[in-house]
Amino acid sequence: MPTDEKLKPIKGHCPDCGSGKWADPVGHYNEYERDDQNDIWASTDHRILKCRGCDKVYHQTDFIFSEDIDYQRDPSTGEEVADYIHTIHYWPAPIKQVRPKWLNRVPTVDMDLYKLLNEVYSALDVDLAVLAAIGIRTTFDRGSELLGVDPSLPFSKKLDELVKLGATGATERDALSVMTDAGSASAHRGWRPTPEQLDTMMQIIEAFVHRNFILRTDVTALKNAVPAKLSKKAPHT
Ligand SMILES: [Zn+2]
Repeated sequence: MPTDEKLKPIKGHCPDCGSGKWADPVGHYNEYERDDQNDIWASTDHRILKCRGCDKVYHQTDFIFSEDIDYQRDPSTGEEVADYIHTIHYWPAPIKQVRPKWLNRVPTVDMDLYKLLNEVYSALDVDLAVLAAIGIRTTFDRGSELLGVDPSLPFSKKLDELVKLGATGATERDALSVMTDAGSASAHRGWRPTPEQLDTMMQIIEAFVHRNFILRTDVTALKNAVPAKLSKKAPHT
């Protein structure tokens, strides 16, 4: 039964624009099943969504089950908050996480780094947010090890070392610190980042890998390709 609440704009995974994009529900149907004997129920919200970015129309199902509850601690109040776990699917299936063009060059740098990054993309493809966040942090670990940082150091010390080695600037250090904190929250406390937060984490790790392992080689190649400067002659008058 459509209600105003159910027709408010929400963020969906547009087949063309990607995840976390505002969409208007142009249709809604709630499917509800109840087992009175066992006092359990399941509810599926079917939404026809219209992307605000590209006008594409797609279908979302949002499933909750009475026994599937997630308990999280509210960081501001410290209180435990219970919420139903939403299992969300889309049709047509969302586009896969876009891989950067340089990804297929990573195996020439290090096979482990490549495999880790690939697993992160695969986790993002199927919306495994917690595993993707943990994978991002592990990718950073491998990358910093390749840059000569002792793998046994804690994250903050690794970041200090990267700054010392000149592999990271102060601004990137802050970004990497937030990213590794987020990865640790997922690894140890099961924190599930939103698609927007994961997108930020991906931008940070991709920039880190690209700058340190791909761009450096390209810069050296470019340097060698540029003809040497000719000695200056006096201008003709
Ligand atoms: Zn769209």
